[in-house]
Amino acid sequence: MYLQNLHTHSTYCDGKDKPEEMILSAIEQGFDSVGFSGHSYMFYSPSHSMSIEGTEEYKREVRALKEKYRDKLDIFCGLEFDMYSEIEMTGYDYVIGAAHYLKIGDEYVGFDRTADVVEGIIRDYFGGDGMKYAKMYYETLSELPKYVKSDILGHIDLICKFAETHNFFDWESKEYNRYLLGAIDALTGKIPFFEVNTGAVARGYRKTPYTTHAMLKELKARGWGATISSDCHDRRYLKQSFGEAAEMLKAAGFKEIYVLKASGFEAVPID
Ligand SMILES: [Zn+2]
Ligand SMILES: [Zn+2]
Repeated sequence: MYLQNLHTHSTYCDGKDKPEEMILSAIEQGFDSVGFSGHSYMFYSPSHSMSIEGTEEYKREVRALKEKYRDKLDIFCGLEFDMYSEIEMTGYDYVIGAAHYLKIGDEYVGFDRTADVVEGIIRDYFGGDGMKYAKMYYETLSELPKYVKSDILGHIDLICKFAETHNFFDWESKEYNRYLLGAIDALTGKIPFFEVNTGAVARGYRKTPYTTHAMLKELKARGWGATISSDCHDRRYLKQSFGEAAEMLKAAGFKEIYVLKASGFEAVPID
């Protein structure tokens, strides 16, 4: 299978490694291609994103590395766009659209944090009702196309980061699935691809990648194309659980995944 990871973070944002270190590791691990997806600058959370100047430097460096390693592997310069970022969108080969913040009144509340932080958010903003938190997340995510044109929908069910360890809401309930499906329906036809994201496995939050078998079947039925990524913040985990992700996709009826080539996204068979 053509081995590519389009969801990676470097020292330009919250990743551990420099882009070139990640590339060298990707070559060693047999990758055909790697894409960088630094966090878009967020005025509401600068410590979690690339700076404005850093973003320009990031684009320049990734372009230079693309040339330097062109005989070894394909390199792409992408962006993980947080939906409330207000930035210039030029110079990217692809965009992963995602929601990591809820806008509550004038506040931007970041929930892609620790379990304690999430518990506090549910207590302080949702009266202790985790299902209300889930509902607001999916309503927020549904609005993503108003803010950015995305190629890939990032970690659809990010709020399930602690689903295996904490009982913030019942992620197997009808009510929860209604909210999740509502978001998928709102985004169908507006974003072509989703990702099976294994990042939470690499970081020890979960044993299984985002998203569930049931949801993969729903995505398949609605014609979404699949990608596999590890939301990599550490080069050792560039292909974390890729095999498991491919098995999950096959079990849900997917026969191919999409990879980015110089000419655009292309389907390759899952093997
Ligand atoms: Zn993310
Ligand atoms: Zn990410």
